[in-house]
Amino acid sequence: MSDRRPHQYPKFSSPDEARTHMKQRMAAAFRLFDRFGFNEGVAGHLTGRDPEHPELFWVNPFGMSFGLIRASDLILVNHEGEVVEGDWPVNTAAFAIHSQIHAARPDVNSAAHTHSPYGRAFSTLGKTLSPLTQDSCAFYEDHALFDDFTGVVLDVEEGKRIAHALAGNKAAILRNHGLLTVGTTVDEAAWWYITMERTCHVQLMAEAAGDPISIDDECARQTHSQVGGKLAGWLSFQPLYDKIVHEQPDLLE
Ligand SMILES: [Zn+2]
Repeated sequence: MSDRRPHQYPKFSSPDEARTHMKQRMAAAFRLFDRFGFNEGVAGHLTGRDPEHPELFWVNPFGMSFGLIRASDLILVNHEGEVVEGDWPVNTAAFAIHSQIHAARPDVNSAAHTHSPYGRAFSTLGKTLSPLTQDSCAFYEDHALFDDFTGVVLDVEEGKRIAHALAGNKAAILRNHGLLTVGTTVDEAAWWYITMERTCHVQLMAEAAGDPISIDDECARQTHSQVGGKLAGWLSFQPLYDKIVHEQPDLLE
C-alpha cells in the first residue's frame, strides 16, 4: 500500500492507465481467490473488458495457478475465442460463458466464476439464497438460478443461456456447478464473488444447525440498497486489495 489516505473511486486519463489498473486488480483478485481456496484444478476464470477495445477481454491463462498470476500474465481474447495477446491458451469454458455475458450486458466490465466449495455445494440445492443476514441482502432480488446442468460449458449457445438466466442481476447460481458474479469493475465482481461464497457457507451452516429466521422482504430490500450497490461492492474490495498487494507485490508486475 503506497499511502494511507482514504480510498477514492479511480479516474483515468488514458486507456493505457485504465488497462494497467484493471489488470492489476484482476491479478490481485486471483491471488485472493487462491488464498480463499476457490481453485479446483484448472477450473475458474475472471474476465475484464478491455477499456479501449470493448469487444476484447482479459482473462487468466488456462492452467496457470491463481496464486502465481501477475498482471502481465493475463491474456487478451476476442469474441471468436482467439488469443490476441499472450502465449497461453484460453479456457474454452471461460470463453463460452464470459463472451456471452460481456456481449449481453454492456454494463458488465468484469465477470467471475470458479468452483469454490460452498458455492458449489449450495448450487446442488437448486434454489436461490435467502436473506438470512445483512451481508446476504446484497443478493436479495439480485441473483438468479440457472436451473440446468448439461456438462462442461463448451459452446457459446450454453453461454447465451447462462447470460439469459443472469438477466440484469449481479450474480447467478449455476445448478450443480457453482457461482457466477458480475460487476462494472473487477473490484466489484471479485468482491461479490467472495461475499457470495461466504453467504452460501453461512446459509449451509445455518440450515444444517436449525431453521433460520429470514429478514422480512421490506427490510431485505432496504438493506440491499445499503450493501448491494456498485459503490459498496467496489469499496468492500479495497481492504483486501491493499493487504494482498502488501503481501505479494509481484502480482502488480
Ligand atoms: Zn465452471
